[in-house]
Amino acid sequence: MSSDLIRNPCTGDWVALDLDQRIVRALLPRRTAFVRAVSSQRSEGQVLAANIDQLLIAVSLAGELELGRIERFLSLAWESGGEPIVVLTKADLVPDPVTRSYLVEDTERVAPGARVLCVSAASGQGMVALAALVCGGTAALLGQSGAGKSTLANALTGANVQRVDSTRDSDGKGRHTTTTRDLLPLPGGGVLIDTPGLRGVGLWEADSGVARTFTDIEALARDCRFHNCSHGVEPGCAVLAAADDGGLPLRRLENYRKLLRENERIAARSDARLDAEILRNWKQKTALGRHMRERKRGPQSPPS
Ligand code: GDP
Ligand code: ZN
Repeated sequence: MSSDLIRNPCTGDWVALDLDQRIVRALLPRRTAFVRAVSSQRSEGQVLAANIDQLLIAVSLAGELELGRIERFLSLAWESGGEPIVVLTKADLVPDPVTRSYLVEDTERVAPGARVLCVSAASGQGMVALAALVCGGTAALLGQSGAGKSTLANALTGANVQRVDSTRDSDGKGRHTTTTRDLLPLPGGGVLIDTPGLRGVGLWEADSGVARTFTDIEALARDCRFHNCSHGVEPGCAVLAAADDGGLPLRRLENYRKLLRENERIAARSDARLDAEILRNWKQKTALGRHMRERKRGPQSPPS
């Protein structure tokens, strides 16, 4: 068990309780961990929730689909070790079934390997399927403010547990209102995690999550002439060839590059922090060594 777990148990951690003595006997090891960068100034990651089986990425159909944002959430979700499910919400606002199926297809193209559902808490559409999916495990809600997470939480738990701000629009600029509870029991078994902290979308060493999100690009890259191709200027680049002939949308390639760059910057910051820590430890040890040597030698007579 990591020392971080002992110091910072979080939503989703399981403990062994001694009911007679009313004490916590043990914190159980984590199966998955959802981590995000704390802020742009600090390089440490913060574990926001643990042991999540499914990450429900809520995306509102009320506005334009932001595919880049979905890819970012997917990278974080895959990185955590849980299974991402993209939940397109407010389907009642897109009454035309053909338009809806196009939106689902667009989402599926940016989410290879992930399930995509179309639901409406207002009309009930797709809600039975979603409830069946999350039943029995631990699911967590991710997504921008205004995406409909609190409304989903209320619908899935069958109770009015999360506050929904009815004046807030889908633009995500409204007040922050989910304050009630983080861990909600589901009627069919299992729990739903809805913590305000999960709404942030900072990456944290999510390179394997990025790779999982962009499996199509990673597969193309295997055909690049150079093993370490940066898909920038190299001849024989299969990724650029796919972007040129329209098979790979340029927007997706650019977002892939952007998320990788972001991730590299975070990794470099954490390396710098590690170096500083090693230096500090070394200085402490050498200072201690000097102190011990001086003690052994006993008090020195001042130089004449
Ligand atoms: P959160 O910030 O992600 O928790 O989003 P909320 O659950 O607070 O929802 C934001 C707004 O979207 C509220 O005004 C809700 O009433 C509205 N909303 C949520 N789900 C639906 C839905 O299925 N259909 C429609 N038409 N509006 C919805
Ligand atoms: Zn290449």
